Amino acid sequence: MPSVLRILVTLLLLDQVQENVTLDITGDYHTVPSAVLSTKDHELNKTELDGLLPIHEPKRCFDWLALMFVKRPGGEITQVDLWNLYKDAFELCQDPPMLPASEVIKNATTMFGTQSLVIQGPPTKFIIQDIDRRKDTILADKLKSELCEHVLQHVKSYDVEGEAACLWSTCPVDKIPQDRFRAHVLTHFWQAHIPAERNPSQSDTITISPATNHPDPNPTQRNPPLPRSTVINSLRTVNDAPSVSLLALLCIRILFRASFAAVEAAPKVDADHFGFPGVTEETEDEDGGQVLEENTLINEKEGGRRGRRTFGGIRKLLEAVQIKDEVLMGWITEMINAAMEE
Ligand SMILES: [Zn+2]
Ligand SMILES: [Zn+2]
Repeated sequence: MPSVLRILVTLLLLDQVQENVTLDITGDYHTVPSAVLSTKDHELNKTELDGLLPIHEPKRCFDWLALMFVKRPGGEITQVDLWNLYKDAFELCQDPPMLPASEVIKNATTMFGTQSLVIQGPPTKFIIQDIDRRKDTILADKLKSELCEHVLQHVKSYDVEGEAACLWSTCPVDKIPQDRFRAHVLTHFWQAHIPAERNPSQSDTITISPATNHPDPNPTQRNPPLPRSTVINSLRTVNDAPSVSLLALLCIRILFRASFAAVEAAPKVDADHFGFPGVTEETEDEDGGQVLEENTLINEKEGGRRGRRTFGGIRKLLEAVQIKDEVLMGWITEMINAAMEE
């Protein structure tokens, strides 16, 4: 019986024509850029400075203003800051000579069409309104490495004998031997010293769940976000089972009924013709099949047990069967469920 049953189920499988069904159930997800950008005031780079140095005033002052400032309604810079920036750039080179502070300030207001104002204090402030430093947008990581270099400069010139406390905002370390200063300071910048290597398949954005703040102060405890793509693939039978399949199914059903009939009761002629209307059986003598000898009953019990074990064995195969007709599919499901209990 096991091989017969296997052949019958295989027959069902061979005759089913299936198509792929794809169901996209991707949920609502949000992404944010993985690189955090930040802005900082533009500083003259070497090329810009070298280009400016030989130019005669007042052209140099205007060129410098164009590099360092932008017009921004609502912005302001103090006249002292403006003058100091100009002086820092050019005072080391006295040829060509620098402009006096009043000229630099006047040039700025002329160039950006703004005014210099006195804001009564205390403290009284002399400002130029509606201008702002030109900003550079850079990766936060780069900013961090620049800051790191800057802090290391301080460490170099830190002239302390013996031990010292770390001045890094919340750092609790209060006794660092002098030769460990640098190594300790670097621990606050670990990221800048480990090149971030990204798998080429990794996206430039981070997926976050809708109710999450970004950046999360507690990234290890944030709610896991939904996956970016959730697709369910399945197969669906598209053809009606051909007559050979129906015959095979009927045979399987008969074997199933025989195996799973209540063992306590003596087997009876199947009243509903195994679910197939119109199937008629040869009606034997009504009483003939009803009462069985005791040893026949024992044989039946043993046979049923083996049949059920066989159905348990082909359950996996049966699970691949999919019949378009719902009632017939209900039979398959029923057989799978029954086989599962074996
Ligand atoms: Zn500093
Ligand atoms: Zn520290």
